Amino acid sequence: MAVAIENLTVTDALEKLNAGIFTSVELTQAVIDAIREKDPDLCAYLSVDTDQALARAAEADQERASGGQGRLLGVPLAVKDVLNVKGQPCTCASRLLRGYTSPYDATAIARLRAEGAVFLGRTNMDEFAMGSTTENSAFKQTRNPAALDYVPGGSSGGSAAAVAGGEALAALGTDTGGSIRQPASFCGCVGLKPTYGRISRYGLTAFASSLDQIGSMTRSVRDAALLLEVMSGHDRMDSTSVDVSVPAYSEKLRDDLQGVRLGLPKEYFIEGMDPAVEQAVRAAVARCRDLGAEVVDVSLPHTDYAIATYYIIATAEASANLARFDGVRYGTRAEGATDPIDMYGKTRAAGFGDEVKRRIILGTYVLSSGYYDAYYLSAQKMRTLIRADFEKAFEECDALLTPVAPTPAYRIGEKATDPLQMYLGDVFTVTANLAGICGISVPCGATSDGLPVGLQILGPAFGEESILGVGHAFEQSLHGDD
Ligand code: GLN
Repeated sequence: MAVAIENLTVTDALEKLNAGIFTSVELTQAVIDAIREKDPDLCAYLSVDTDQALARAAEADQERASGGQGRLLGVPLAVKDVLNVKGQPCTCASRLLRGYTSPYDATAIARLRAEGAVFLGRTNMDEFAMGSTTENSAFKQTRNPAALDYVPGGSSGGSAAAVAGGEALAALGTDTGGSIRQPASFCGCVGLKPTYGRISRYGLTAFASSLDQIGSMTRSVRDAALLLEVMSGHDRMDSTSVDVSVPAYSEKLRDDLQGVRLGLPKEYFIEGMDPAVEQAVRAAVARCRDLGAEVVDVSLPHTDYAIATYYIIATAEASANLARFDGVRYGTRAEGATDPIDMYGKTRAAGFGDEVKRRIILGTYVLSSGYYDAYYLSAQKMRTLIRADFEKAFEECDALLTPVAPTPAYRIGEKATDPLQMYLGDVFTVTANLAGICGISVPCGATSDGLPVGLQILGPAFGEESILGVGHAFEQSLHGDD
């Protein structure tokens, strides 16, 4: 049968697969057809692994027929092109990694695969996850499904556009400073950034190792909970993955907010914020109050320093992590070098785009002797203060409500030549990564031009149950208005 996937969630798909309403092959084919039809406009995907996905879907159908119980059996997923999926490309949207094929699965992928997920394609992104618009991809410009002249956000812009634009039921992204939450907000889907250490980073191409976290783009909070419970948990291949038990998140969602205390950080409602964004977020806060939450004012006094702190730490770590891309082991090697040093230089000069080079230069500078104390060390101290701000705020409330970004999506090209302006747009998202806490972006409205706006719900470390609970109650109340 022809499967309608436009608004299908993973949870719905699983019910229908289990009820025999459609097969995984039919579902996977429907997603492939949607990609064929829509991707020439959206440009969300970098590659689609049709044959492997259909073969895996057929296996899933057989497993189901013989009683297979996988929690994601036969569900096709899209994956940001920064995570290793065995046998698929993993270019990080960089010329440097063109031609690279992953020899292994990232742990998050292996866990999804063990529950029967089908990996159907790789989504576009800013090169090495550096950016906020997907304009830094070396290969293509993904468009916002709500308005094709606008960016989808970034760096996981392809994943967000695929999910919101009807080309994927759900997708994986990564979030180092907002790269899941911000594109989810710009495109109108749910974006979950789990706590640092909740999901193993093994097999994720590192950008800034102390900030990176894998998460999901979905069409419902319930789906985010489901994917989280499959991917989470300790992994001996990543010593920063934490050995904390994994709750059955999808069974603990709530429908009201009785007894929940929500904080509004005053530093996140600032002058200069887009009025439509402020209005949508304030309306969302009122709705949470109507659902029974007590709303209190809180303060995160070091917020002003967050952008500077993030762009010192993230670039410092990136400059070290990207040293491995030298033409020796991965991807493309420049021709015509006279000796190894020349080969490294030529490969990196030709392989990296401007933003990646800018960050390697900045990061190398802040780590260099003479500047280390002034920049890197100061940033680390400030990071501790930012984390302490959150710890104090969470003594007064269960979760925080904030905008995801000060503006809706930008027009393509609008900020591309002004990196500093672009960095400032990350003001409400980088703090969660610096503090290591969890956050989710849930659609909460749109501007008069139809550009989506997201509500950010931040929770304490390992507080995913709270933010998913608040997000679900909020989302359900909106559906009641449909
Ligand atoms: N926009 C931020 C940056 O450019 C965040 C990126 C990310 O989370 N990967 O660094």
